[in-house]
Amino acid sequence: MVTIFLAGNSWSAAERRAEHVFIISFDQGGGEIIRNRPAPEFKKMFAEGAATWQAYTIVPSITLPSHASMLTGVGIQAHQVDWNDYQPERGTVSVPTVFSLAKKQGLATAMFVGKEKFKHLAVSGSVDEFFVGAHAGAIAAEFAQKIGALKPALCFIHFAEIDHTGHRHGIGSPEQNQAVADCDAALTVIREAVNKSGLENASVFILTADHGGHNITNKEGKTVGTHGNSTHADVDIPWVAWGRGVKKNLTISAPVLTYDTAATALWLLGVPIPESFWGRPVISAFE
Ligand SMILES: [Zn+2]
Ligand SMILES: [Zn+2]
Repeated sequence: MVTIFLAGNSWSAAERRAEHVFIISFDQGGGEIIRNRPAPEFKKMFAEGAATWQAYTIVPSITLPSHASMLTGVGIQAHQVDWNDYQPERGTVSVPTVFSLAKKQGLATAMFVGKEKFKHLAVSGSVDEFFVGAHAGAIAAEFAQKIGALKPALCFIHFAEIDHTGHRHGIGSPEQNQAVADCDAALTVIREAVNKSGLENASVFILTADHGGHNITNKEGKTVGTHGNSTHADVDIPWVAWGRGVKKNLTISAPVLTYDTAATALWLLGVPIPESFWGRPVISAFE
């Protein structure tokens, strides 16, 4: 089905380019953090698809505000999610999300996440399946079990342990390297589940992160990871498109901002992109 809108930019034509979009976010999986660690599946998709190690997240480069931008297509000034823990009394984000916009078009949506605070982004009625898992393996297993029945048009997956281990043991620590490997193995499980359920040929994967990080020495003299500022270590994030209609073996040279993830997902699904969006689809990544 092709619907052409009378007004707007060329990319607002609501053509459906993919039946399924899977956005996978590696918490604290900054460009240099993934690039220099054991992540064979991630790097294979990076090499095969259209990708950059240097997309940018927002400042402050912290989890909930950054994911709010990734999934609402606007900056913190607009979405106003400036806190970073689960505070039920604050309710959900007040601007449209990729899920609420997809839902308006009758599309199925799902979130499989590693942190409870994502409930702030699951506006009532906008997410058909919301799962919080203790680690990447549990999230991937739940995903693999549910994907065949859910067949979500828009699915967001989040792995938390690169962040947990980075904070506790430092960036580049053996513990964080293991977490990168574990999340990469979970990515393989997800890829295989999508393949087995027959959805792969109609799917686009977007692999990205909410921020990177840098090491500091804490009060006890221990090296630990942190993030939040505008240095490259903190704001550079990978951005990989892989799958249907994606250009092969392309290094994306145009700037990619985390808001563009939201716009790209809607554009792929043929969901009209609101004029209020700051993000734009990364059309250079697609045929
Ligand atoms: Zn984070
Ligand atoms: Zn963190």
